[in-house]
Amino acid sequence: NFDTLGLSPEMLASLAHAEYEHPTPVQAGLIPRAMAGADILGQARTGTGKTAAFAIPILESLEPHKRGGAPQALILTPTRELAVQVRDEIDKLAYGRRVASVTLHGGKPIRGQIAKLNRGIEIAVGTPGRLLDHLGRGSLDTQNLRTVVLDEADRMLDIGFRPDIEKILRRCPQNRQTMLLSATVPPPVQRLAGRYMREPILLDFSTESKASDTIDQYYFTVDAERKVALLVRLLEREQPEQAIVFCRTRRGTDRLCRKLSTKFRAMDCIHGDMQQGNRDRVMRQFRSKEVRILIATDVVGRGIDVTGISHIINFDIPQSSDDYVHR
Ligand code: AMP
Repeated sequence: NFDTLGLSPEMLASLAHAEYEHPTPVQAGLIPRAMAGADILGQARTGTGKTAAFAIPILESLEPHKRGGAPQALILTPTRELAVQVRDEIDKLAYGRRVASVTLHGGKPIRGQIAKLNRGIEIAVGTPGRLLDHLGRGSLDTQNLRTVVLDEADRMLDIGFRPDIEKILRRCPQNRQTMLLSATVPPPVQRLAGRYMREPILLDFSTESKASDTIDQYYFTVDAERKVALLVRLLEREQPEQAIVFCRTRRGTDRLCRKLSTKFRAMDCIHGDMQQGNRDRVMRQFRSKEVRILIATDVVGRGIDVTGISHIINFDIPQSSDDYVHR
């Protein structure tokens, strides 16, 4: 239960209010260690309760709200959407307490963000580009930071945020606590942890995640020239609610899309050679289910959250086991 984790009565009250009855495995593993002050590298995916796992220790460590106070915790996320989601979870867990949080991401006027920072903030959540912008302007004061979280670190590195992240971390106090959460821990994530964390405790929740338990996995042995015919039969037999068919190359994606378009409707493709406008349109139609079968490269292998997907088909096998997990 949460009451065995050494949490404050206020925290237990907000957890009850959020209707969280039992800690998830990630929370049970991470919260006590984080509250003891350790640096933590947690391998955990979205849906495991990882946000609360780092948010609860942060909330427990906060000094009371002060007018004009500089942030005590900073959370870096790869996308704007995730920054908002993390901030919402923090606000939920801070229910009934005076905790000021702010999201600092692009696409929103910077002046409103600066005004909020000036009024005094305990927790800032943001994307690396905009955070750097604030650091450059002097509107984000890092000297009171006690905790820094890198959420979805693998994705941030994939997007190319490494230089930005490093610049930000170098501006943070040396004696801070650092938590890094990542769905996968490939060598670039390990290197980042090695450089910017102090003897991090490694916690691997990847095998206990709910997602992989609920996915049935099958493979088919097939000659290369019969792959398309097999795919057609599978799609006809399975009648997926929505499916993503992953291909290795952009050209292969186009080719497969052309071949299937004679057999299936509500089908489209997406890859990195397409104009952003077209990519956005295809994603929008996929979300609204106008597109049922999406042929794609790994450009959509990460970070998309479409609830209707019933089938993931690896038409070409992924380059690495990590890519398989992401797909
Ligand atoms: P996350 O992995 O942080 O994206 O969280 C996934 C979802 O689980 C979020 O909607 C949380 O609000 C919810 N959640 C987190 N911790 C718990 C818990 N202990 N009990 C019930 N729901 C939770």
